[in-house]
Amino acid sequence: MKCLICGSDSSSEVCNKCIRLEKIIYQKEWVSKEGGLIKKSEDFRVAISNLRISGRVSIADNPKGSNARLDNFSHYLMNVRECSQVTYGGKKTLMVTVENKGEGAYTRYCFLPGFDEGDQFVNAIFDAKTKAASLTERIRQSSGMASTPVEVTQTVASSDFRLNAAAQAAAASPRPAAPAAAQAPTPTPAAAPASSDTVALAGIATDISEFETKIKKLKVLRDNGILSEEEYEAEKKKLVSIF
Ligand SMILES: [Zn+2]
Repeated sequence: MKCLICGSDSSSEVCNKCIRLEKIIYQKEWVSKEGGLIKKSEDFRVAISNLRISGRVSIADNPKGSNARLDNFSHYLMNVRECSQVTYGGKKTLMVTVENKGEGAYTRYCFLPGFDEGDQFVNAIFDAKTKAASLTERIRQSSGMASTPVEVTQTVASSDFRLNAAAQAAAASPRPAAPAAAQAPTPTPAAAPASSDTVALAGIATDISEFETKIKKLKVLRDNGILSEEEYEAEKKKLVSIF
């Protein structure tokens, strides 16, 4: 499959290259007794980062939770469609609906039995989505992909949860206006002339663009706090010495 962020070949929804820019925003582990007559203590966990939602929860292909199985999951955060409170196993339970409309489209229902931080969870998702949207746009721009603004949708049935101010504002205007400073399309670089005496020049041009790409990547790492200012400067020096 293709990475949902940068479009490169990937074994999961978010490729390893993009995962390097991941920062955890919220995580929680808990134990809940699951099962029918014989209840068994099961470990659950969930993590929200600026790119993904992942963890170990009960997963079903239907909103009733029939035939749900406890399993690891990991999805691109922008595919979280909704968080709601449902009745699952006779108890009020948080359900996260994940929907992928792209290649291999699916809808998946994730149940978090015994999870008691619903308000924090949905606010963390909103916060993380805002970060994921801007990170996705930056990654797409730096990898030269045409980028349309990623829309941050409100993802809760609001009566179920107590939202903080930012999420509430988004709930009030479900379709946020596109960023005012729309990015001008990047002009396509002119193809290098095919004459034989420009081959060397073309080689240099390739090096320069490779250099620029690497510098851009370093900047993204620094802007996202993956590299400190010192590490960034050190890496930049290394690059300058190579080229
Ligand atoms: Zn990627």
